[in-house]
Amino acid sequence: MQLYNSLSRTKEEFIPHLEGKVSMYTCGPTVYHFAHIGNLRTYIMEDILDRYLRYSGYDVTRVMNITDVGHLTSDADTGEDKMLKGAKREKKTVMEIAQFYTDKFFEDCEELNIRRPEVVEPATACVDEFIRVIASLIEKGYAYEAGGNIYFDTSKLDQYYAFHNFEEEDLAVGVRDGVEADGNKRNKADFVLWFTKSKFEDQELKWESPWGVGYPGWHIECSCISMKHLGEYLDIHCGGIDNAFPHHTNEIAQSEAYLGHKWCKYWMHVLHLNTNSGKMSKSKGEFLTVSLLKEKGYDPMMYRFFCLQSHYRKSLVFSWENMDNARTAYNKLVARVAQLKGEGDVDTAAFDALRASFVKALDNDLNTSLAVTALYDVLKAKVNDATKLALIKDFDTVLSLSLIEHAESLLKAEADKKAAEAEALAAEAAKDPFVAEILEKIEARRVAKKDRNFVEADRIRDELAAKGVTLIDTKDGTTYQIG
Ligand code: AMP
Ligand code: ZN
Repeated sequence: MQLYNSLSRTKEEFIPHLEGKVSMYTCGPTVYHFAHIGNLRTYIMEDILDRYLRYSGYDVTRVMNITDVGHLTSDADTGEDKMLKGAKREKKTVMEIAQFYTDKFFEDCEELNIRRPEVVEPATACVDEFIRVIASLIEKGYAYEAGGNIYFDTSKLDQYYAFHNFEEEDLAVGVRDGVEADGNKRNKADFVLWFTKSKFEDQELKWESPWGVGYPGWHIECSCISMKHLGEYLDIHCGGIDNAFPHHTNEIAQSEAYLGHKWCKYWMHVLHLNTNSGKMSKSKGEFLTVSLLKEKGYDPMMYRFFCLQSHYRKSLVFSWENMDNARTAYNKLVARVAQLKGEGDVDTAAFDALRASFVKALDNDLNTSLAVTALYDVLKAKVNDATKLALIKDFDTVLSLSLIEHAESLLKAEADKKAAEAEALAAEAAKDPFVAEILEKIEARRVAKKDRNFVEADRIRDELAAKGVTLIDTKDGTTYQIG
C-alpha cells in the first residue's frame, strides 16, 4: 500500500515496524464543545485508513487521546485553556464538560460508523506518566525550568522543524495566531511541558509535581499516551492538518528526545472541511454538527458518503447544495442495492476482478472517490446479483456506508407500506359490501392478466365501469374510483 507521508512529503510504500502488525495513533478531540462535521471529516478518513489496514490483513491497534486539559485557545502556549472556557460557558465543572462532550463525540462517531479505537485515554488519566517523561527530559538536558514553568529546549535538537514550510494548502490555519511573547522561553520555538505558574488563577485541575502544583501542556499528552500503549515505535500518527505544526512537530521533538531514536514512521494529515466563508472552527462557536444534519433530515451516512467522494489530501467545501447532491446519490445507490436479489452462486473470477480495482484505488493513498467508483462499477457489471451483493458487502467493510442495512430498511418500509394499504382496503371492504365486491373483481382481474387472459380482464373492467367504478392501474397495483 502506498501512503502519503507528510514527513517526507512523498507517497511511500507502507511497511510497518513489525510484520503484519500496525500501531496507529490518532489525536482525539478537545472535549469543550460538540465535534463539528469538519473534525468528523478527519475522523472518518482516519477510520477508512484503520478499516482498510484491517481489510488488508493487518492486526491494527489504535489509540486515541481525549484532550481534557492543557489545550490553550492558541495551539502555541498562549490564550485561555479551552476546557475552562467551556466550563465557564456552561457553568459546569471541567470534568462535567469533559464527560458530556466525550460521550457526545462517541455518539457522533457511532452515527457515522467510525470504529472506536482499542484504547481511548483522557489526558487527565495519565498525568503521572507525563511527569515521568518530563522529568526524564529535564535529566537528559532537553527541558528547563523558567519562571515556574517547564519548557522543551528546541535548540538541543539537530533538527526541530518537521512539517514546517509545509506546502499543502491550508497549512496556514495551523500556524500560530495571537502569539504572546513569553520571556521565559530561551528560544522562540520552545514550548511548555508543564505549567506551574499559571496565568489562569482559577485553573480547576491541578496536580502535584516535582516542579510545584500545576498542569501539563497540550503536546506532551499525545507522546505519552502513544508510547504508553504502543511502545517506542509508532507506525502511523494521524490528525487534521492544523495539528501538523506546532502540535506534531512538538510531539516528535519530545518523543525522540526522550527515546533517543526515531519514533513514528508515517504521518497522515487530513485537509480541512471549509465552508464558503472559511474554516469551520469550534472556537468560533458557529459550526455544523451531526445533530444539525439529522435535524435537517440528512442521514449521517450521507455525510460519510459526501466525505468519501473526495480525497483526504484536498480541502473540501461544505454547502447544503453539496449535501443535497450527496443525499440524492446515496438514496439512488441504496435503491439500486435494494433491487439485487442475491440468487445464484458468487462468480469468484468476476468477484476477484472487481475487487482488484477497489483494492487498487485504496492502495493508492486511500483514493476513496475511486473506491466509490469501483462500487458503481459493481452495480453496472454484467454479473449475477449474488456476486454484486457479495462485493458490496465486502467493500462496505471499509467504506462503512451501511448500504445493505439501508437497502433492507428500504425494502421493509416498502413492504410495510403495501401491507398498510392492503389492510386499509380490507378494512374498507369489511365496512361496505360494494367495496368488497370491487376488491374481489380487482383481484380476479389481476389473476386473469397474470394468466394472459386479457379478454376476461377487459370484461371485468367493463363490468365495473358499468357500475360507475373506474380502475386505475399503477406500478404498485390497481386502485379504483367510484363515480
Ligand atoms: P480538536 O477537537 O480541535 O482538538 O480537533 C479534533 C480533530 O479535528 C483534529 O485532528 C483536528 O486537526 C481536526 N480538525 C479541526 N478542524 C477541522 C476542520 N475544519 N476540518 C477537518 N478537520 C479538522
Ligand atoms: Zn495530539
